[in-house]
Amino acid sequence: MTKQPFTTKEKLEEIAAQFPTPFHLYDEAGIRRNAQALKDAFAWNKGFKEYFAVKATPNPFLIKILREYGCGCDCSSKTELMLSKAIGAVGDDVMFSSNDTPADEFKYAADMGAIINLDDITHIEVLEKTLGCLPERLCCRYNPGGEFKITTDIMDNPGEAKYGMTTEQIFEAFRILKAKGVKEFGIHAFLASNTVTNAYYPVLAGVLFDLAVRLKKETGANIRFINLSGGVGIPYRPDQEPNDIAEIGRGVKEVYDRTLVPAGMGDVAIFTELGRFMMGPYGALITRVINEKHTYKEYIGVDACAANLMRPAMYGAYHHITVMGKENAPSDYTYDVTGSLCENNDKFAVDRALPKIEIGDLLYIHDTGAHGFSMGYNYNGKLRSSEILLKKNGDFEMIRRAETPKDYFATFDCFPEFYNKVLNA
Ligand SMILES: *Cc1c(COP(=O)(O)O)cnc(C)c1O
Repeated sequence: MTKQPFTTKEKLEEIAAQFPTPFHLYDEAGIRRNAQALKDAFAWNKGFKEYFAVKATPNPFLIKILREYGCGCDCSSKTELMLSKAIGAVGDDVMFSSNDTPADEFKYAADMGAIINLDDITHIEVLEKTLGCLPERLCCRYNPGGEFKITTDIMDNPGEAKYGMTTEQIFEAFRILKAKGVKEFGIHAFLASNTVTNAYYPVLAGVLFDLAVRLKKETGANIRFINLSGGVGIPYRPDQEPNDIAEIGRGVKEVYDRTLVPAGMGDVAIFTELGRFMMGPYGALITRVINEKHTYKEYIGVDACAANLMRPAMYGAYHHITVMGKENAPSDYTYDVTGSLCENNDKFAVDRALPKIEIGDLLYIHDTGAHGFSMGYNYNGKLRSSEILLKKNGDFEMIRRAETPKDYFATFDCFPEFYNKVLNA
């Protein structure tokens, strides 16, 4: 299998003539198609709602597209809450799934009516102190510990994860919250990341639905929703089979009908907090080859760097690369594709088989639509790129400008003598 770019070399050159590389490009048609597919997959559940994980792609213009499909926002910080509020997502449209939370952020979330998801039992007291009283509706995050397995495959290691409450704690938390007057409850868990298997959500649903039945029975809590959170992955590698969201929806429904319905809980809403699955494949980092170097290895130097896409440097993550205009050429060269950071791990690809590359070629780095731009940073004084939306009708639009030196130095603006000098340097 090969991975196809969602656009052509001609279109990219047209965009690059107006907005210099590097830039992250997003595919409106793809985002819409996928959002509709998710909605259809869970249409069987009356209260279903996707809360898009804002941290994955915090661009208001992209999230507004998802809002047309009924999506809300999953936030983890005050600035993400601010972004959501500014695009009209407040109240039931916001899930605040944070951890190690500062008290003032609980306050901000409560003031906008967001659903607060408690990561820890100690936050009950913090919340009560901060708000004066508890909201009538609260969610608790669960961590069953140990390893998370699908049949015999270990998917992830919740026992080593900092998130969520233990089984004992979540029962205790529900009792305390109920005694303090909380009326509506939700439960949440995120137990494995980037799962490329249709089994993840159904297996997770099994864990959470069983827990919900027990929590209801033992504490009498009125459980209104179960949040399956994120973790549905995408095929970064060309040999991976993509998840089938319709199949995943059917898998969750089967567990729902088997577990919740017989327990008299057939009105519980299913929530999701997908980030990667909603945006990942519908973004690409477009970068131009500016140098080649032949030493102990063959290096291709591009005008983007790990500051624009950190995943390869940080996790050794694979991102497929297409050399635009050479889609059908044989991959008979082996390159390291590098950025310019003074960091040897600033490589988008290591020992990658690619067609012969020339200076000036445009590289299309796939699947950067989630956890791409958003993980950017300014090391080596590198500036964040622009973000461009490729619209359904083929037009394109800048949805965030590139940073300039002025942005980089902005936090010195309280020292006018330096600030004015450096900007004029
Ligand atoms: C990061 C995150 C998500 C989204 O994860 P994806 O892997 O992008 O789907 C959802 N919920 C919480 C609480 C998160 O931290």
